[in-house]
Amino acid sequence: MHTLVFATNNPHKLEEIQAIVPGSIWLISLKAAGIDIDIPEPHDTLEANATEKSSTIFRLTRHDCFSEDTGLEVAALDGEPGVKSARYAGEPPDPSKNIEKLLQKLAGKTDRRARFRTVISLILAGKEYFFEGICPGTITDAPRGSGGFGYDPVFVPEGASRSFGEMTMNEKKAFSHRRKATDQLVAFLQTLAEEAE
Ligand code: IMP
Repeated sequence: MHTLVFATNNPHKLEEIQAIVPGSIWLISLKAAGIDIDIPEPHDTLEANATEKSSTIFRLTRHDCFSEDTGLEVAALDGEPGVKSARYAGEPPDPSKNIEKLLQKLAGKTDRRARFRTVISLILAGKEYFFEGICPGTITDAPRGSGGFGYDPVFVPEGASRSFGEMTMNEKKAFSHRRKATDQLVAFLQTLAEEAE
């Protein structure tokens, strides 16, 4: 059994990733690890923010841990909101205001291409490893569905006709950027476990 601290305060993400990893990997939430801090995300790339989060938690726990940082990258907006996804419409973070701002910026634009990109930073025995997952799709004209979180109601993944907001967590899993990055993390941990046997 490999125990890993997952550096997030977002219960949706913990739930999504817990549902993806096999039983041999046990995730410890920050709350369960006794950590109650706002994890910093001060940088202008997903990679740098992921490193900031995992290294902060590693310093505090000295335990193997990982963090993830995700952004919605919209082609017609030159990759915006990207690292600013959570606070696109300003402080405090407000998902419906973010969606409103995004739809306003895209009003009248025919290029609706976007992608979610997740970067995972794993710190294992003090060494850092990166994994990436990308989910291409399009932005709708108006919110659809109330499932999931963040931009889910306005994002339709490639190959689907419904938005993430109209899908169950299990349906979203089939397309999810976070699932793709997590799969790579899990495959890496499994390879290490096999090598150690
Ligand atoms: P974070 O920095 O990884 O927490 O993600 C930044 C923001 O991106 C979140 O606050 C959400 O607005 C958005 N986001 C991240 N992942 C998803 C997702 O799976 N669906 C919808 N929005 C997401």
